[in-house]
Amino acid sequence: MTNENKHFETTVIHEGYDSKEMLGSLATPLFQTSTYTFDTAEQGERRFAGEEGGYVYSRLGNPTVSVLEERIAALENGERGLAFGSGMAAVSAILIALTKANDHVLCSSGLYGCTFGLLSMMKDKYNISHDFSEMRTKDEIHSLIKPETACIYVETPINPTMKLIDLQMVAEVAKEHGVPVVVDNTFSSPYLQRPLNLGCDVVLHSATKYLGGHGDVVAGLAVGKKDFLDEVAMTTQKDIGGIMAPMDAWLLLRGIKTLPLRLDRHCDNAEKIFEKLRSHPNVEHIYYPGDENNPDNAICKKQMKRGGGLISFDVRGTKKDAQQFLNHLKFLKIAVSLGDAETLIQHPATMTHSVVPEDVRLNMGITDQLIRLSVGLEHWEDVWADLEQALNQL
Ligand SMILES: *Cc1c(COP(=O)(O)O)cnc(C)c1O
Repeated sequence: MTNENKHFETTVIHEGYDSKEMLGSLATPLFQTSTYTFDTAEQGERRFAGEEGGYVYSRLGNPTVSVLEERIAALENGERGLAFGSGMAAVSAILIALTKANDHVLCSSGLYGCTFGLLSMMKDKYNISHDFSEMRTKDEIHSLIKPETACIYVETPINPTMKLIDLQMVAEVAKEHGVPVVVDNTFSSPYLQRPLNLGCDVVLHSATKYLGGHGDVVAGLAVGKKDFLDEVAMTTQKDIGGIMAPMDAWLLLRGIKTLPLRLDRHCDNAEKIFEKLRSHPNVEHIYYPGDENNPDNAICKKQMKRGGGLISFDVRGTKKDAQQFLNHLKFLKIAVSLGDAETLIQHPATMTHSVVPEDVRLNMGITDQLIRLSVGLEHWEDVWADLEQALNQL
């Protein structure tokens, strides 16, 4: 089913699946199969030669996974989607496809820890260098693009300091140099931000987070131009092999149906918790894209539908106080990851960013007192009550 003119809330439920083709099954069937039978030897030959469509082997394609790929492509307004076994499988397949030895990658000043790890490995093994940039102005970006720059790789909002990057501006500069822009859109999901509409070339997701939304699957997705993703499907996806399992695609199709409903509640709750947190005497600094006083709020208004569900803040005191604060929580869960129904709270300095050297970490604004909060779907008053009683004990 194609539904070019349908709304986002309809696309999350219907795109890519026609029950008439599946014996009327309302739910997308789970094709838990590794391989596919051919009617004749000649048919097998034609399928391998690419002369006839149809499935061959589940590392090369699976009907349940295909539905998900069509759905995410429609949601990100891209030509083709590709599904991977984790967010990092998607990140690595795309970065390896775009680069060759001695190339250069220009990155946003904050990156997911394992993406940073991957780039460091690519530097050591293949001399693929990288630079970090705040990407505040066009001049800054122009000055950092080299003849060997293979792509610009951006996360916005940046984890966990919630700085934003103007994607349209980055895409405009990149176009002048003929360099593709890759955006990790995990923190926003396509409901809040659609980088391809702003001129970027490839969108990546850790579908583990908001897209799955229920904390029960680790998965990744990529969306972009058909030619490029066809190439990725036949090279770094097929031959490195980080594909998505059919059951995980099934869980994601189920999770994505409620993405707009969940995201609106995440944002509603985050806005309320933000207002409470910012006036608490034991909260020193607070970082939230939807904050009118955040220097990047103008970028938020320009490219995001709402401020999202993540808030970071410094508690007053030391590392010990930050840890005590977490230990005082009664029902909120101390955990990394984000975008789940449960509110998740973590200490970046000793958890998600513990591998970042201390001086680099402090330079990024990740202090020993910084807390990252992924506001869940509970009643916000209960979430606040738990946060408040823990803050009051500092
Ligand atoms: C979690 C995350 C990843 C990695 O995804 P996995 O599914 O854990 O492999 C990449 N980027 C961002 C921004 C993330 O939050």
